[in-house]
Amino acid sequence: MSLDERFLSVCKTTPIVDCHNDFPYACRLQLHYELHQPDTKFDFNSVLNSQTDLVKMLKGHMGVQFFSCWIECKDDYLSQDFNKPTTVVRDTVEQIDFIKRLCREYPEHLSFVHTADEAYEKFLEGKGEKISITLGVEGLHQVDLSLAVVRQYYELGVRYITLTHNCDNPFATAASSIAAGKEDAGLSSYGVDCIREMNRIGMIVDLSHVSHKTMLDVLKVTKAPVLFSHSSVYQLTNHERNVRDDVLELVKKNGGVVSVNFFPVFIRQHGNEDATIEDAVDHIKYIVDKIGWDHVGLGSDFDGIPHGPKGLEDTSKYPDLVKKVWKVTGATEQDIAKFMGMNVLRVWKDCETVSHQMKNSELVESNWDKREWVFPGYGRSFPEIYPGSLQSHDNIYKDDKLDHNPRNGKVSK
Ligand SMILES: [Zn+2]
Repeated sequence: MSLDERFLSVCKTTPIVDCHNDFPYACRLQLHYELHQPDTKFDFNSVLNSQTDLVKMLKGHMGVQFFSCWIECKDDYLSQDFNKPTTVVRDTVEQIDFIKRLCREYPEHLSFVHTADEAYEKFLEGKGEKISITLGVEGLHQVDLSLAVVRQYYELGVRYITLTHNCDNPFATAASSIAAGKEDAGLSSYGVDCIREMNRIGMIVDLSHVSHKTMLDVLKVTKAPVLFSHSSVYQLTNHERNVRDDVLELVKKNGGVVSVNFFPVFIRQHGNEDATIEDAVDHIKYIVDKIGWDHVGLGSDFDGIPHGPKGLEDTSKYPDLVKKVWKVTGATEQDIAKFMGMNVLRVWKDCETVSHQMKNSELVESNWDKREWVFPGYGRSFPEIYPGSLQSHDNIYKDDKLDHNPRNGKVSK
């Protein structure tokens, strides 16, 4: 059988799983999610100028897509006031809503799925015409200090959260802070609480974007395998966003997966304009040689990057990449299937299993210890739940002069 025939044969039972695509943010930026205005020409079923559309995805034999719900960090990336109110939860929920709307508008090709098994089943049912869609949130800044938001994102269908984006947050330190010369504080104690809660509810822990120490700290405490949703190899391209050898060894022990990012800056040491599909192959092969076929996957970052490497420009090009990897490694059918997507589905399922095993563990109630709780002055006059309950927390009361509510300052009877 030729390599083309072998590839098509594997595709019958193996979805190509991509762990990171930012197309929803492009729709936020360019369309404000308005797909049906009189002058809107949006049709996901046609060839768009973006790196992602249904024509390209189906040509690329895609079976499962984790769409990224990414909202940027606050204005000051390096010294944020974590207590400053933000609109980030609204903005993230809009991303989630948009991706679900997209699935409802194109039901012949997109299925919104909730479990690893469902993702695989819907792919099989579709016979190459259906892509299972799920979600990742790109940074714990998007939960705005609150583990309640982590839990509710899971309820809404989010299946991984990246611990940071390009900014530190109360949970963890970002790679970009280290690149900017800050000290690596790693995972905080509140971050440890968060990992426990993510493990408990079955949310995959994504270590892309975090600092080296954060990676090491998380790998010490997580009970479930981790994912790097879009990161490449540090040894080949010395960028803080990439994964160092010591971490690769720990990912092997942990049972996790590194899904290789195609961003030219992350896969080509110098002169990223010249990056090609061969550079992506080198990163994949490096991981395979170092820690084996069980720990490598795909994390394109399409539509979050200005352009892909030559030969790997958009979502239609996965088959070219898989075949090149196959050719240079001489992999078995089973190995290539793991790389194409079965590894990521395994990590997803393992996280569900850990969650099931923890079903009798207590929910993590803790709040960030530096969180400011601000209430209107009249809150002080409410009846106490139990003696001392009002005094035992460090609340901040503000008397808002613009509030003409008659209850302001006194409880009305
Ligand atoms: Zn990213």
